[in-house]
Amino acid sequence: MAKKKEETPKEVTIEERLKALYKLQTVASQIDRIRTIRGELPIEVQELEDELEGRHTRYAKYEEEIKRLQDKNKQNTEDIRIATEAIERFTEQLNTVRNNREYDLLTKEVEFQHLQVEGYEKNTATNKERIAAIQEEMKILAEETEGRQKDLDLKREELDQIIADTKQDEERLRMEARELESVIDERLLTAFNRTRKSSRNGLAVVSIDRDACMGCFNKIPPQRMLDVSAHKKIIVCEYCGRVLVDPELAEEVHREAKEQ
Ligand SMILES: [Zn+2]
Repeated sequence: MAKKKEETPKEVTIEERLKALYKLQTVASQIDRIRTIRGELPIEVQELEDELEGRHTRYAKYEEEIKRLQDKNKQNTEDIRIATEAIERFTEQLNTVRNNREYDLLTKEVEFQHLQVEGYEKNTATNKERIAAIQEEMKILAEETEGRQKDLDLKREELDQIIADTKQDEERLRMEARELESVIDERLLTAFNRTRKSSRNGLAVVSIDRDACMGCFNKIPPQRMLDVSAHKKIIVCEYCGRVLVDPELAEEVHREAKEQ
């Protein structure tokens, strides 16, 4: 029996648990404040990064399209050369035709090749126009992108500075929070996190001030005040469900925090 008792972890009193909870609340509130300083910046930076990535993709697509049109024009030039050679060859053959049928055939062939050349030239001209239009769009896109990139650089710099300024504080606070969480039982911690999430000011544990709950500012009945001060049970505000601590305990936690 005696051995078993040694193995059980040190009993945490309700008072210690309440203090840990209230401390955790002050630490969580400080982390919240750091997040507020960062504000929308992290989201704005992320959105700008996504936008720029989209712009770069569009630019690369334009480049691909230009390359495709230029290749097509190279092919057209080659096809024109072949057709022109054929025209020369057939025109020469026209001098040595032996009958009308041969003459007609060659003439038709020459006409056909001329039409082919015309088609290739037309296609090349259309492609060139399209290339010029794309290049114009690329120019606008590049100018806009440059502006957006500058916006991003500024915002990123601002965010990095804030993170650098608050990094140490945040790390220290997060470590403190983890330590405190280990003292608090899981059920209470789950309730703490749930209340914090659902309340706009992130308060799940509040002190009583001038007989009122500092979470919702409703009056606390005298008997409940006594129960809170007794530190025998975890008492929650009957209006907002936040855990209540008496001003003395709150004061003690704040004093200890300052001494650290
Ligand atoms: Zn309340």
